Amino acid sequence: MKTVGVLALQGDVAEHLAQLRQRNVQGVAVRKPADLAPLAALIIPGGESTAISNLMQTSGLYDPIREFARHHPVLGTCAGLIMCGRRIEGGRQPVVPLELIDIHVTRNGFGRQVDSFETTLFIDALNKSVPAVFIRAPFIESVGDNVTVLARYEDRIVMAEQGNILVCSFHPELTEDTSVLAYFLSKI
Ligand code: GLN
Repeated sequence: MKTVGVLALQGDVAEHLAQLRQRNVQGVAVRKPADLAPLAALIIPGGESTAISNLMQTSGLYDPIREFARHHPVLGTCAGLIMCGRRIEGGRQPVVPLELIDIHVTRNGFGRQVDSFETTLFIDALNKSVPAVFIRAPFIESVGDNVTVLARYEDRIVMAEQGNILVCSFHPELTEDTSVLAYFLSKI
């Protein structure tokens, strides 16, 4: 059975692990570089990207995750999307992104906590609509030539992929629908 890691430095780790269980995939929490060794793929959860970024540095996971992502799929949701991006704007405290996908990101692009909302997005690649929860969500300002845009909300890009790397502004892990996860798992 394939094992999928969830970066467990900060954020909604338990929700991603629960969705993996729902799809009969073994999920494990990743806290240190050695935890990456048995993994087929890695999920970087939503949470607070400044905290995740700082802990990624102190735990020594920054370079190992970059290396891991060269040969394995990585999913980033919300703060995880920010961590996967190449250039990050907004937010009071800086993050050091992993630069896994060629996107420019605006943090808190949809406004503050009070501007959190839930909607439904039709995603062509999944050929269906999925519930999408946005919480102080970033959006993707622009993408490089090798990036495929998978979803927009109004005119803002909220889901994209480049090779092994899949990112979304919203939190599929906070809903009952596991189809975004299934799409990610198909990359393994
Ligand atoms: N606004 C957060 C950040 O900049 C992300 C919010 C989230 O993951 N729900 O990290």
